[in-house]
Amino acid sequence: MTDVEQKTALVTGAGRGIGRGICETLAKKGYRILAADVDLDAATTTAAVLGEGHRALELNVSDSASVDRAFEEAVARFGHIDVVVNNAGINRDAMAHKMTDEQWQIVLDVDLSGVFYVSRAAARHMRERKSGRLVNISSASWEGNVGQANYAAAKAGVLGLTFTLARELARAGVTVNAICPGFIDTEMTRGIPADIHQAQLDKIPMGRTGAPSDVGAAVAFFASDDASYITGQVLEVGGGYRI
Ligand code: NAP
Repeated sequence: MTDVEQKTALVTGAGRGIGRGICETLAKKGYRILAADVDLDAATTTAAVLGEGHRALELNVSDSASVDRAFEEAVARFGHIDVVVNNAGINRDAMAHKMTDEQWQIVLDVDLSGVFYVSRAAARHMRERKSGRLVNISSASWEGNVGQANYAAAKAGVLGLTFTLARELARAGVTVNAICPGFIDTEMTRGIPADIHQAQLDKIPMGRTGAPSDVGAAVAFFASDDASYITGQVLEVGGGYRI
């Protein structure tokens, strides 16, 4: 593949966990990766793990100015961004009656507004190019989960945003899809108390956690030419948690 033909994929929250897994899967498929993270050192490590030709980018998804700046820089440097994966996300769990304004707001800022800011920047670029792929990482928790009022509200919002953007961008040749991971082995889930961890596992027919590469494979499908007539869809990657 020549440099001119090579597609570029920008992944947010790429410094570790699922984001790094997505970067690894897409890099193996031949994409040039822009590993974006609020933590530039972590993003730099991801880019180094991927090898030659991949780049790190400092990008705080909850700061719209940072997003617009990073996007302009990326386009100026690489000419085009073909795939954008909205993966960055945080959780600040608490029962709703104990949840502070700060816990509510920061999760909404990162997990929902962040997806909007990045998607808006991507939409401007991709509309002009009349092609592109947006893949949003929501969560199985979008349907509601005890202790996750903030996170569930944000992740349900990501689905509404996905359906709206899919409609708005369809005529411009841009597809927009979402993935709902179930229980994936990352730092986010390793921090869960042992009894709750086990209770989550018990709900999964396959009886085990997923790997970041399982999510990466689903992203690679939505990004591929094989998925060119698929938009506004939600794919669960969770070992059958809803059956
Ligand atoms: P993780 O291990 O905590 O990694 C998240 C990454 O996002 C970290 O590198 C983090 O950087 C970065 N990040 C945090 N805030 C950011 C911001 N404002 N701007 C840019 N980057 C930021 O989480 P994960 O488990 O890989 O989860 C990735 C995504 O999958 C999230 O959207 C999560 O909600 C979703 N998800 C995960 C699971 C699961 O089972 N793990 C299930 C369903 C959905 P720092 O290290 O500096 O904070």
